Amino acid sequence: MSDIITVSSASEPVQEPKINLLDFSQEKMVEFFLSIGEKKFRATQILKWIHHFGVSDFDEMTNVSKALKEKLKKIAEIRGPEVVNSLFSEDGTCKWIVRVASGSCVETVYIPEGKRGTLCVSSQAGCSLDCSFCSTGKQGFNSDLTVAEIIGQVWIAAKHLNNVPAKMDRSITNVVMMGMGEPLMNFDNVVDSMNLMMDDFGYGLSKRRVTLSTSGVVPALRKLGDVTDVSLAVSLHAPNDELRNVLVPINRKYPLAELLDAIDQYMSGLRDKRVVTIEYTMMAGINDQPEHVEQLIKLLKKVPCKINLIPFNPFPHSGYERPSGNAVRRFQESLQLAGFNVTVRKTRGDDIDAACGQLVGQVADKTRRSERYQSARQLSEA
Ligand code: SAH
Ligand code: SF4
Repeated sequence: MSDIITVSSASEPVQEPKINLLDFSQEKMVEFFLSIGEKKFRATQILKWIHHFGVSDFDEMTNVSKALKEKLKKIAEIRGPEVVNSLFSEDGTCKWIVRVASGSCVETVYIPEGKRGTLCVSSQAGCSLDCSFCSTGKQGFNSDLTVAEIIGQVWIAAKHLNNVPAKMDRSITNVVMMGMGEPLMNFDNVVDSMNLMMDDFGYGLSKRRVTLSTSGVVPALRKLGDVTDVSLAVSLHAPNDELRNVLVPINRKYPLAELLDAIDQYMSGLRDKRVVTIEYTMMAGINDQPEHVEQLIKLLKKVPCKINLIPFNPFPHSGYERPSGNAVRRFQESLQLAGFNVTVRKTRGDDIDAACGQLVGQVADKTRRSERYQSARQLSEA
């Protein structure tokens, strides 16, 4: 690792790319410092500078010796993803469009409410799972985000939020892996990033306030409990396999019975008492009928959960429509009558969604995402 100059076939010296320290969880940061002959405590010292103080310049690290600063400058850097655009809504919602190494853009959205501030983070550029109602899915898979690109979204948001005029409490109290991509398809980088979110030398969030949302990648969900104990949200969207096979194609591989079993395994492995959040995007005439309520009640009878209804957010050529407010309310009330805790996401940040629509060609996914993220905000209300 200390060899920074290599010789090319043409005998020209070639500068090796610098190591991005934003890519390192605490464990990996310790490994890094040991590998360059430094003491272990340097890891937490540098993590604090990066994540507590948002520092990217080694010269600002006042308790680090000059010699170590010089050494680090030669081999390492602290580099977040490039911010292409920052949008601030009247209602306090903020959105950052960031470009990742593959050249694609992803979004990060911050939704403040009272003392709570929820950050919705992307895990992939695009998504391979191709859910029929999701514009990210329609875009196809582009790339897995690195740890620096995932935790970098939190790093960027935290820095920007400290800088915006504080009309309300701007701190990040909750993070939801509910942006673009399927977190369980980028398992290792998502787990390392969530560890940094919960690390006292990172963002110090409680495990209850970091939520992973998945469409049901069962083998990865079964592994998840071995490495973390974050909160869980599952994108159900259909109460039977026949319909779910169409809306969420991963269901053909891992049908509902297997998914529910994996949820049970994860939730019962948690040491504290928590419930899974069931996300249910409602599409008019597709999954919002009385028979679907009945099936959902039966399916979830024994699952300790809360249900979050997300009225479909239309996008061009989706082929789906959003149900009426009355239809959503009726669906909610029927579930509530059966004893479920049910929330419906509200609209926020409309004005910056409009701005997002202007980014034609930069961001392929133009779903009215801050509405989707509203369900994330509601997760943190529990
Ligand atoms: N891949 C993960 C997390 C990202 S999607 C997952 O599927 O859970 C975040 C949430 O937004 C999911 O519940 C997803 O189903 C929902 N969603 C996607 N497209 C939507 C749309 N057009 N309208 C409303 N919700 C949508
Ligand atoms: Fe991927 Fe989630 Fe969209 Fe499905 S809903 S395509 S899993 S991002």
